[in-house]
Parts: sequence; C-alpha cells; structure tokens
Amino acid sequence: MTTLPVLPTVIDDSYAFPVTVPSSGAKISMRPYLVKEEKLLLMAQESESYEDQADAVAQIIRNCTYGAVEPKIAPFFDVEYLLLQLRSRSIGAIASPVYECHNKITHTGMGIGLDVAIECKNKTPIEINLSEIPVTGLDNQVMDVVISPKFTLTLRYPTIFTVNEMFIAAINAKVPKQSKVIDSLSDLFDTLVDTTSNTVYNFADYSHADKIAFMDSLPPNAYERITEFLEKTPTVTKTLEYTCSKCQFHHVIKLSGLVDFLVWE
Ligand SMILES: [Zn+2]
Repeated sequence: MTTLPVLPTVIDDSYAFPVTVPSSGAKISMRPYLVKEEKLLLMAQESESYEDQADAVAQIIRNCTYGAVEPKIAPFFDVEYLLLQLRSRSIGAIASPVYECHNKITHTGMGIGLDVAIECKNKTPIEINLSEIPVTGLDNQVMDVVISPKFTLTLRYPTIFTVNEMFIAAINAKVPKQSKVIDSLSDLFDTLVDTTSNTVYNFADYSHADKIAFMDSLPPNAYERITEFLEKTPTVTKTLEYTCSKCQFHHVIKLSGLVDFLVWE
C-alpha cells in the first residue's frame, strides 16, 4: 500500500495574512488553523484547568505565527489578540454567544398574597465581531520603577502563564498577602540598572531563588508600584450591552481573558 500523503505545514503563502503585534507594533504573518490546531483548541475548551488551556493556546500561537511569537515570554494581551485574529480568519469573525437573562421579575400577589421573584431566563443571541476587538491601555504604561537613587527596575508584562496569579496579587493588594502570590510577581522583573556604575542585571540570567531574594529586599512602596503597573496593564476587552426583550432589563457584560474568548462558538 502506498503511504498516505501528509500536507506540508507551511501551506501556500496566499493563506497567510498580516497581523500587527499590539505591544511592539511588529508586522508578522499568520496562517489560519489546520485541523491539528482546531483539535488543540477543542481540548482547551473542554479542559477545566487553566494551565492546560494556556498550553494549548501557546502551541497554536507558536504554530500559526511560524514561531514569530513565543507565548512563554510574550505579553498575555498579545496572545489573546492574536488568538482572536486567528479565530476570525479561520472560522469567521462573527461569534454568536447566547446569553440567559438572570434578572429577577417580581410577581405580585400570586393569588396567595405574597410577592415572588422569578428569574427571567429569556435567551438572547448576541453577535460579536471578533476581528474588531482592540487592545486598550497601551499608551500610558510606565515600565520603570525607581527603587532608590541607585537602582531602577524595569518591568515586563505578564504572560498567559503568569497572568492568573498576577491578578490575584493585584486584586488582593490590600488584604493579607500570600507568599506564593508575591513570589509570582518576580516574573514581572525584566532588568535592574545600577545607575551609579551603569551595570545592567538581566533577570533572565538569574535563578528563581535569586529573584525572590531581590524581591524580598524591595521597600513596600516598590511593591505598590508593581501592583499599580498590573492594574493598568493593557487588556483585550469587549463590553456587550443589550436589553432583554422579555423583561426590558439592560445588561452590561464585560468579556476579557482567555477563558471568555475560548467559549465563543
Ligand atoms: Zn430578561
């Protein structure tokens, strides 16, 4: 029997499309999904584990950008944006999720003299153009934290692998801190510059333990600046608004993050 041919991965260039990477402005080429990437995406959708979802998305982005974007180091919002562009080109730009109305309608009396609140449950299909969802908040980012007259710390954005714990850290900045969550912030360290000797320390060259020791030596106001940086980090978000045709309740739904974007049919 003759061996069944396998199509070469780099298909005809006419399938490739240009995309701008939000964080850098770099122009790159992407290709649409093949069946193998679609299977990865389905596995991600079925998985309950955020890590599995991030792994699958990372592999898809690597494959479809021909390795131009490495999700282990790329800002998470670049990956989310590229995933939406990819989905738009591969399956279609219009997603049609169906939302159920959870507004409670009060029924007066009910024949027994009591008011009863019953959920509306009306289902509304919404159309979203995925190709038009932008990255917002790119303009006002301050990447440098002046720690002392001697040292300036330059930060980098979280990746899809670190962003979950990061946001827990940012949201919980005012409550008792968990050491594991604080430690995850060390992934944001890019370089440290000693301005008196012009020495540049690149955090990628140091161990996790080294980074934690440095982290522990930071003054509290530096920690606050780092969580501020996280709070202002750019995002791919879409706010949907619609009025329920049954109960007239006005719904405002904010979508953001890998998980929200993965569920769209
Ligand atoms: Zn309703």
